[in-house]
Amino acid sequence: MNTHKTDWSGVATSTLLARRGRLVARLGEAETLLAGSLVEQTRRCGRAGCRCADGEPHGPYVYFAPKPAGRGRLRYVPAALVEVVRRCVRTGAEVEAVLAEISAINAELLARRELR
Ligand SMILES: [Zn+2]
Repeated sequence: MNTHKTDWSGVATSTLLARRGRLVARLGEAETLLAGSLVEQTRRCGRAGCRCADGEPHGPYVYFAPKPAGRGRLRYVPAALVEVVRRCVRTGAEVEAVLAEISAINAELLARRELR
């Protein structure tokens, strides 16, 4: 994903509109997005005599952390779903970047009084 800030000022309006159209087409992937990140944590079960009591915790387990922070608690991700969730999180980051780029293009079009 190209995340560097682009200076659109020297770009033709027709080029901006075409790029905006291509960006919007990519939003079809949004259906599976997850906004957040994956975190790994270890756990202590608290049972007396368990190995975790001696400093060898269980896990690591994978959790989904919704974004923005505070938008909900960590959600356990079963091992069978880790790759799916990883892909959805990646989609979330890509959609966020696409939206930011569309907004930047529209701001440039506004500056030209050509927003439509
Ligand atoms: Zn334990």
